[in-house]
Amino acid sequence: MLTQTIPLVLGDLLRGFLQLLYPRLCVACGSELPGPASCFCLRCRLKLEPTNLHLQRENEFTERFWGRLPVAAATAMYRFHRRSPIQHALHGLKYRNRPDIGVLLGRELGQKLRTADGFEEAEIIVPVPLHPAKERTRGYNQSACFARGLGETLVKPVAVNALLRRHNTGSQTRKKRLERFSNVETVFAVASNAPIKGKHVLLVDDVLTTGATLEACAMVLLNAGASRVSMATIAIAMQ
Ligand SMILES: [Zn+2]
Repeated sequence: MLTQTIPLVLGDLLRGFLQLLYPRLCVACGSELPGPASCFCLRCRLKLEPTNLHLQRENEFTERFWGRLPVAAATAMYRFHRRSPIQHALHGLKYRNRPDIGVLLGRELGQKLRTADGFEEAEIIVPVPLHPAKERTRGYNQSACFARGLGETLVKPVAVNALLRRHNTGSQTRKKRLERFSNVETVFAVASNAPIKGKHVLLVDDVLTTGATLEACAMVLLNAGASRVSMATIAIAMQ
């Protein structure tokens, strides 16, 4: 009993001590945060532009997929603008070793989607994968972190390895070229043991831009037997 208690107490003490040394800071402006549940201070939160797209079944997210493939429901939490708090958050999540930002934003969206039409029927959450080499360098897949936060709040399973990324699209230039020739579907595959057959899948990524990546992932999921695909991202960028 004692041997179990000591590490717990030490863990709490250490956490408290670290909190004093490194108080949690707003990811956008660096000012101190009032509590642990958000990554933005109040001032930055007021600068965010929530889309509330989850309240409309047909919206500008689903419109981007019209004529391409059926999307059951889709939403992005915030509008993406350069130098906006959400750009800082995404930058931290992708390049500054802050997987916690993805989890916090996932929990935040999860709260909104709990009763949202279309999303509550989703049965399993699948993140867009990174190429394994990139994931090794970064240490985590940012979309999987977002998926984890969503899954916790929505109480739905997350299948982090359901999709595989076969080619490293690497640089933005190469990615753009791939997207232009719309052959990104060759980049993704569904793992043979992925529990998605007959399931309504909620596919998640960090940002929606052209939609080519989400389209390719949704296509392989539907081809592999998913019954429906819905989508959710942290942000939506203008095209
Ligand atoms: Zn701030």
